[in-house]
Amino acid sequence: MVRVFTFASGKGGTGKTTMTINLGTSLAKFGKRTCIMDADIGMANLGLSIGLEDVPVTLHEVLAGKASIHDAIYEGPGGVQVVPSGISLQGFQQSDPERLRDVLKDLTATLDFLLIDAPAGISRDGVVPLAVADDVILVVNPELSAIVDAMKTKILAEVVGGHVRGAIINRATPESAGTVSQKMEKVLGARVIGIVPEDQNVKKAASAKVPVVIKYPTSSSSVAIRKIAAGLAGITYDKEVMEPKDTFIDRFTKVIFRGKK
Ligand code: ADP
Ligand code: MG
Repeated sequence: MVRVFTFASGKGGTGKTTMTINLGTSLAKFGKRTCIMDADIGMANLGLSIGLEDVPVTLHEVLAGKASIHDAIYEGPGGVQVVPSGISLQGFQQSDPERLRDVLKDLTATLDFLLIDAPAGISRDGVVPLAVADDVILVVNPELSAIVDAMKTKILAEVVGGHVRGAIINRATPESAGTVSQKMEKVLGARVIGIVPEDQNVKKAASAKVPVVIKYPTSSSSVAIRKIAAGLAGITYDKEVMEPKDTFIDRFTKVIFRGKK
């Protein structure tokens, strides 16, 4: 039985695509059958971010009733399955978001987790991903406007019958994380399920079109993301098993450094 998580936010650029890709890759690396889907059908960029931009069949064709979902699934990093969206305006116009419900039925038997990257804001194509999710996860940045933003998205999700599991505070700095997470829990009543720090490695990995959890697995953002992934999968985070070991170069540098002290 598949568990569906939808990543949502009111405003764009909070890190929904980054979270979907990296949490999905982490879950796949934990051995879970995981698929990530770009439901931002108007502004597709999930495929683009991992080098899957030139694929013949996308979610557009599936939502237009022209192809089966099984023809739109591609092998992604770390063994995660990927359903990219198309980038043509015509493909977008022909897509019927309502078809997503039937598409999900076709995936239930073959997956443990489906992670849906939702469009920002309030739109027709944004509502279905909120409604079909077992859990909606809000992705917010640590700014005060984020509380209002998250509040709107939470209300929208609940109006359409979705269940909000909590929020991820992404791009947090040591100064901002505490205040925003307290406000989020008190004002919004949304549990903070994880805090991901601002980390330049996220951008470096993105420009290499590789998830940060694969490109820089020991970076602060990767560690935070893997912990959230373990929480979503309901497994205990075991540092020994789940943390990649230092490379030879890392160990070498540490030895030199110790020698100098
Ligand atoms: P959304 O899908 O919500 O529009 P993205 O995932 O595309 O947002 O992220 C927006 C930008 O922020 C991207 O350039 C991404 O690389 C960057 N970003 C996301 N998370 C982090 C982070 N923790 N640290 C630094 N940059 C980040
Ligand atoms: Mg996005």
